[in-house]
Amino acid sequence: MDAQITRHFADFDDFLNTSRREFMKKWTSKFNANAKPSDFQSIKTLGTGSFGRVMLVTHIKSRKPYAMKIMEKEHIVRMKQVQHTHNEIRILDAINFQFIVRLDYYFKDNVYIYMVLPFINGGEMFTHLRNMKKFDEQLSKFYAAQVTLALEYLHFMGLIYRDLKPENILIDKDGFLKVTDLGFCKKIDDERTYTLCGTPEYLAPEVILSQGYSFSVDWWALGVLMYEMTAGYPPFYAKDPMRIYEKIVSGRFSCPAGFSKPLKDLLNHMLQVDRSKRFGVLVGGTKNIKSHTWFKAFDWEGLLMRKTRPPFVPKVSSGDDASNFDAYEEEVLRTSPIEEYADEFKKIVAA
Ligand code: ATP
Ligand code: MG
Repeated sequence: MDAQITRHFADFDDFLNTSRREFMKKWTSKFNANAKPSDFQSIKTLGTGSFGRVMLVTHIKSRKPYAMKIMEKEHIVRMKQVQHTHNEIRILDAINFQFIVRLDYYFKDNVYIYMVLPFINGGEMFTHLRNMKKFDEQLSKFYAAQVTLALEYLHFMGLIYRDLKPENILIDKDGFLKVTDLGFCKKIDDERTYTLCGTPEYLAPEVILSQGYSFSVDWWALGVLMYEMTAGYPPFYAKDPMRIYEKIVSGRFSCPAGFSKPLKDLLNHMLQVDRSKRFGVLVGGTKNIKSHTWFKAFDWEGLLMRKTRPPFVPKVSSGDDASNFDAYEEEVLRTSPIEEYADEFKKIVAA
């Protein structure tokens, strides 16, 4: 192993240990809402998800642009996502890592729960992948490296991410990425979990087979992402989700002719049905990924210090330029004279 990567491991381990102490302090603190809806002015919708919409807003006092995730309490309760929503806030509020979005404000009103994140204006990786059809290996590697660090950080905090996919990765104005959407993120520490969640193409075999699972599912998903970024389509694909699941549990996939040998080799280690052989969770953890030949000569330290020059920089004209996001139909927010679902969300104390 070369000196630079050895140094990266030592420094990153120190960083992770300090981060975990800070994370645990916040993790055990109370939910104190720190703003209110009238502090913000809405501009437009940036995205819609299964649990609500995300809007571009301006924080009136600071004039800063933010992405505000708005989730209707009624919908959260109906979809049995009360616990997940508390988790998402708790986790976003407690983490602090440059390749993951951060939460600046959160609060509730009579109808909705709000989470306010800095606006990442380069758009979703999904949009750029669709426009470019596929990424060259240099760009895939640059993104895969950041996701590797983000997952390593989350896992060290005892969190499984469970929702890796190009829609949940945002590109910032400089070309670095931020993982977003911690809606399925779960604190598990050492036990296993059983919930079926995620996107069909990115599910690990152990999730589909309802075997208790753990951090290994995120490394599988990183393998899927590495493949999809470089090929332009996912490794296990069919119209019918059942067929996708069959393909995933069979573990058989083929790589396009253009994939380099090191990439194919790394994918065989990541898209490994047998978890006792999958890279990421073997003894040595992420070292197996970071020192694999595909990452030969990759400057991990430079990446952490943001010295690496991103191979692709999105076009943005200003902090609140939303042209990298698709257009969505706007909807007027609902109001109510009474506090709906007060009991379910009583832990979030109003500002
Ligand atoms: P789903 O469950 O469908 O994945 P969701 O309801 O959990 O979605 P998010 O994935 O968190 O919502 O956000 C939906 C979309 O909003 C994202 O895919 C992204 O396009 C946009 N978005 C989220 N956070 C930000 C941000 N900080 N800056 C810019 N856009 C964002
Ligand atoms: Mg999402």
